[in-house]
Amino acid sequence: AIALSAIDLHKAYGRGKGRFEAVRGVNLEIAAGEVLAFLGPNGAGKTTTIKMIAGLIRPDRGAVRISGLDPHRQPQALARVGAVLEGNRNLYWRLTAIENLEYFGVLRGMAAKTARRQGRELLAQFGLTDKATTPVQKLSRGMQQKLAIAVALVHQPRLLLLDEPTLGLDVEASQTVKGLVRTIAAQGCAILLTTHQLDVAEELSDRVAVIRQGQIVAMEPTQALIRQFAGNTYRLVLALGPDQRLEEALGPDRLGKLSYLGAQIHPDHLTYSGDAVDLYALLDCLKPLPIDSIHRHQPDLTEVFLTLVNTADDSATSLRR
Ligand code: ATP
Repeated sequence: AIALSAIDLHKAYGRGKGRFEAVRGVNLEIAAGEVLAFLGPNGAGKTTTIKMIAGLIRPDRGAVRISGLDPHRQPQALARVGAVLEGNRNLYWRLTAIENLEYFGVLRGMAAKTARRQGRELLAQFGLTDKATTPVQKLSRGMQQKLAIAVALVHQPRLLLLDEPTLGLDVEASQTVKGLVRTIAAQGCAILLTTHQLDVAEELSDRVAVIRQGQIVAMEPTQALIRQFAGNTYRLVLALGPDQRLEEALGPDRLGKLSYLGAQIHPDHLTYSGDAVDLYALLDCLKPLPIDSIHRHQPDLTEVFLTLVNTADDSATSLRR
């Protein structure tokens, strides 16, 4: 089932000479249970897009459907969305954890009793049961973040908008929050994740959409996108003796041949960029020296992202070879 579809969204701010098109024809789709990482440099149009999806600002053109309903025309659509935007501002600091859950549940149309029951279940799932009656202002940052996510889920939305879920959290709290995000998705909620922490995006997302200057420049399954950027660069390490230098081990004859083949000699390893088949000529030349390891360079999402956002609009897709 499709939890979110955003179709051809446009939004401009200002008028006349001051008019600025922040979002220019964005299409997004997220299935139930899927995590889509929505990435882009500062000012690319992420927040504007998310606010249109959340029904907070009206698109100039295009449409949003949250499991079929339009949040700009059908208020029931908003009962299908949960949002944790800009940290934990969706919490009341003087209220306790359970009071927040109940309050926001009722605000979104639940009966108080149902909201309380659902709230207790979420506190248990999030490991916060013993903090149920603690005021939010006395919770740690990590607990507040977990509670903010719980509050966004209390009315059991189909779509969760999640902004920077692990920002400012320590390693352990980050791991817990990431685990929770995975669980929420596994339970069938669609998640639109925005973050500048690309390692988190890489870990959590099924697919990635990259926005740049108001337009989507890439949208692919995360691992497939990363693979597309895997160049043909190989790194080869020889098993050398403790005091042996690579150049000595190779000797002048081999060094000559290797550089003729296009290999780069570094103090403790070789790199080779080119056809995988030509790699055999290089290996032949190394025979019978013992090889410790050989592997193809694997980029991460950060490298892919930087390449995508630093490429001119029209060549962004052709560069992905
Ligand atoms: P960041 O990663 O920095 O949060 P973003 O991708 O969320 O960036 P947006 O907040 O959507 O970017 O902003 C996109 C563009 O629209 C920016 O150039 C911004 O200056 C502009 N913009 C955003 N809100 C307004 C507004 N209310 N009035 C005028 N311009 C705006």
